[in-house]
Amino acid sequence: MVRGMASPDNADARVDSTRLVASPHTGADRLIRTISDAGTIAIKTLVASELVAEALRRRHFAPTAGDALGRAMMGALLIAVGSAADDADEANVESVQLQFRGDGPLGSLTTIADSRARVRGTVQHPEHSQVLRDGSPDIARSIGQGPLNVVRHRPRWRSPYTGTVPLVSGEVAGDLTLYLTESEQTPSAMGLGVAFGPGMSDVAACGFLIQALPGASDEDLTIVEENVQGLPGLATLLGAPLEPDDLVDRLMIGLGTRERHTMTPRFHCPCSADRALRTLALLDRAELEELVGGATSQEVVCDFCGKAYDLGPDRIATLLAVEGEAAPR
Ligand SMILES: [Zn+2]
Repeated sequence: MVRGMASPDNADARVDSTRLVASPHTGADRLIRTISDAGTIAIKTLVASELVAEALRRRHFAPTAGDALGRAMMGALLIAVGSAADDADEANVESVQLQFRGDGPLGSLTTIADSRARVRGTVQHPEHSQVLRDGSPDIARSIGQGPLNVVRHRPRWRSPYTGTVPLVSGEVAGDLTLYLTESEQTPSAMGLGVAFGPGMSDVAACGFLIQALPGASDEDLTIVEENVQGLPGLATLLGAPLEPDDLVDRLMIGLGTRERHTMTPRFHCPCSADRALRTLALLDRAELEELVGGATSQEVVCDFCGKAYDLGPDRIATLLAVEGEAAPR
């Protein structure tokens, strides 16, 4: 990491969710991206309270698991958006998948976002709850140690780009900062904060990603570092309606910004009955035959959005037909 960019720990410390006061009036979700006047620093900021709340409504989540999922979904969005120069064409839409494969009790945590600001995510144990002595979620120990896998892909690419770094802080933002800096060689600072009010639907969530572009001077990086350090606790920021523009203003003091591009991030799951059927293809032939032979349909629930698909014996039988054709090969 280039000297001067905020360390992962600092970035996290600035968005300590224990100090956040969830506000139901944070306004519509928005993602803003721009670059500094000199074109050497790129910044994206995000308010995603509504989409995080929507993801958490779909399944039962304990606050610890919900916090981790919210952070990871925002992290994926901040990395994915802006990656494709022209994503009007579906073949250019880039997807970014983050897989936190830690050995902690939360199990694996997976989020997928794309350059059109659509995101979905899931954790293996959404019921997991673990708090620090002060009552804040213990994200680090919940995720544990292990690899963080990042997969970038576009339909036009022959194969995906993949990178892996070890999970170091377990606090999501710090791990993603390490990945961007070491694996993608882009000095970066990321902050992610999620906070809950009295109910799980009362969510406040925001984040930022600042990256040094080629030509960034030591002075630019020093200014960024000071701005990140000087960011008030997000309790202050999220206590009132928060605009991602406010975050840009605070983090780009002394650097100026060019035109700001606004997108609306959304929770989006592309699951379908066909995709659900394909998950059954993992069963062995005897198990499939048993399902086809029975009169009842098989329910398959999407891990990402909780939608349930009822697959009848007729439908499952098509898997056997396909398998049968493929068998001689
Ligand atoms: Zn789904």
